[in-house]
Amino acid sequence: MSLLFNMSESPSVHIPYPWQQDSWQKLQLQVVKNKIPHALLLAGQKGIGKWHFAEALADYLLCLSPKAELACGQCRGCQLLLANSHPDKQIFIPEGVGKLLKIEQVRQLSTFVGKTAQQGGRKIVILGPVEQLNINAANALLKNLEEPAGDTVLILVSHVASAVMATIRSRCQMVPLLTPDKTIATTWLKELQIDNAAALLHLSGGAPLIAKAMLEGDDLEHLQTFITTLLSLSQRPPAASHIAVAKDWLGIGLSQIIAWWLQIIHGMLVYSFNDSNGSLKNKDNINTTTNSITSEMDRLLASGYRFNRQWLLKFSDKLILLRQQQLQGANPNMPLLIDELLLDWQVIVGRS
Ligand SMILES: [Zn+2]
Repeated sequence: MSLLFNMSESPSVHIPYPWQQDSWQKLQLQVVKNKIPHALLLAGQKGIGKWHFAEALADYLLCLSPKAELACGQCRGCQLLLANSHPDKQIFIPEGVGKLLKIEQVRQLSTFVGKTAQQGGRKIVILGPVEQLNINAANALLKNLEEPAGDTVLILVSHVASAVMATIRSRCQMVPLLTPDKTIATTWLKELQIDNAAALLHLSGGAPLIAKAMLEGDDLEHLQTFITTLLSLSQRPPAASHIAVAKDWLGIGLSQIIAWWLQIIHGMLVYSFNDSNGSLKNKDNINTTTNSITSEMDRLLASGYRFNRQWLLKFSDKLILLRQQQLQGANPNMPLLIDELLLDWQVIVGRS
């Protein structure tokens, strides 16, 4: 692996993560050949560093004298970036958790794109998650993609590319960013002094930034609640009533519930196909808390072979639809919805 991707070389500007090297080199080559398109769509699982990659690309495109494959960290462009005051870079994100990107924001984007670059180089826009554009904002963005300004690069970021309007997708160069190899991600986490790295990565569906964040908030505790209750509902007869569960889950938040449930269904299907090699079992040195969650997670995934795959897939489709509705601002009655999902789940586990 190139030394360029070690953290020490240029700590100030954004440096792509080790697992992003291939994607970075391809894009970097496009920049050198002056063939970078006016719009890119960085797509991949949540928690693998797409936003960081977008920032690294913005740094590189605005640096006045890039060194080898990265922004130099010293020129006037880099200094403005490091001070968060580069006039030719703008970022658009939803104005709060669970909010949508609004048309006013895309209007600001259009105004910015219409101006001349103040530093004489390119202008860079980073916008995401694209699937959280409301419909009017998405249509307004489409106009910018249809009539690109020559000196602007739009870097769009999406966790769920399938939920992005096809007309937006088709006007961007798709840059798929893959979930990192387990060994690379574990090494990266261990370098941050996270000693139960493998277990956390396992619980995070392979997304290293989610694994890292799990240590900071309530996520581990919530995940424990989530897995334990699913396990107890999977027993015959169920060891918990779904009404009691629904109350326990209210604090978790719908988007997190959907994400974990999809992760678990996917894991169950993988497990049921690869049962013999025990590939999902985690035998790393892990602390007691994560150990108990990982073993429960493994038990849950291993129980999946008893369930009808068609029913699991049907439930997964329902969750994906719910996620799309939520991305578009739906605000369902949470206790009722959780109750409904748990009833569905009991039908699935009861039909095994
Ligand atoms: Zn520079």
